[in-house]
Amino acid sequence: MATLGNPQNTIAILQKYNFNFQKKFGQNFLIDTHVLDKIIRAAGITGEDFVLEIGPGIGTMTQYLCENARQVLAVEIDRMLIPILADTLSAYDNVEILNEDILKVDIHRIALEKNGGRPIKVVANLPYYITTPIIMGLFESHVPIDSITVMVQREVADRMQVGPGTKDYGALSLAVQYYARPEIVANVPPNCFMPRPKVGSAVIRLVRHEKPPVEAADEKLMFRLIRASFNQRRKTLANGLSNAGELGISKEMIAGAIEALGLPSSVRGEALTLEQFAGLSNIICGMLHESGGN
Ligand code: SAM
Repeated sequence: MATLGNPQNTIAILQKYNFNFQKKFGQNFLIDTHVLDKIIRAAGITGEDFVLEIGPGIGTMTQYLCENARQVLAVEIDRMLIPILADTLSAYDNVEILNEDILKVDIHRIALEKNGGRPIKVVANLPYYITTPIIMGLFESHVPIDSITVMVQREVADRMQVGPGTKDYGALSLAVQYYARPEIVANVPPNCFMPRPKVGSAVIRLVRHEKPPVEAADEKLMFRLIRASFNQRRKTLANGLSNAGELGISKEMIAGAIEALGLPSSVRGEALTLEQFAGLSNIICGMLHESGGN
């Protein structure tokens, strides 16, 4: 039976172990059972699933995951939480705790070893200071993933979901939408956490595409172009890309590619759809091949 997820029991555990919150680890523990139920439902966890939880804290959501999944692996960086987790999860034999930094864990190998290479589900109330590297790391390393259901800062959830023409649109929107279908499933106010964060939060579900929605001959080149365009948001796309020395693509080639895509030379990067970025990278890729470049 899941016993945490309310203020009284959470406070009792924190006092029992004399636990001090570590700001540097982004520790805001969930204390609302409705939100926990919603996350589990949105993630669609079944008795077949292998679930990776990032940052279990005192094990609040972990208990819910253990009740619903076949196997749970929870990766927690704070060693002060390890004895607490041993206590709060003692009733479950389908959970393993790893005291590691998630950014240093080889999740690909874990999925292979522990789930026979079949797609895993990722569920987490993420530490907000590393939301983007965690999500991009999961996608870019091509870990077999079915879905990622995570609590993030409300503003970051918006960024993942929006399209061109909005202020939140950027490299994160394009990367997430290339790999997955994002859907915000709940808005969560600060009073659902202990301690309360300063910002609103949201639960977002990212269901991995079987095949990306656009074809990019060179994925890496496409993402280099995307990053370079949004690094210089206020510039035109042509200037932004020409100024990005690390791309090593000539001004003429960039201008030619934008024209070949049928876009005006004054267009800004933030106006391009994912499809147009894929098209641009395919044109540039072809030009580089013709010119004998990389
Ligand atoms: N899942 C718990 C809950 O919902 O109550 C805690 C969520 S709290 C927002 C984030 C958790 O991630 C904390 O327990 C924190 O110690 C852990 N954490 C922070 N950075 C981490 C990292 N690099 N690797 C693994 N865990 C991390």
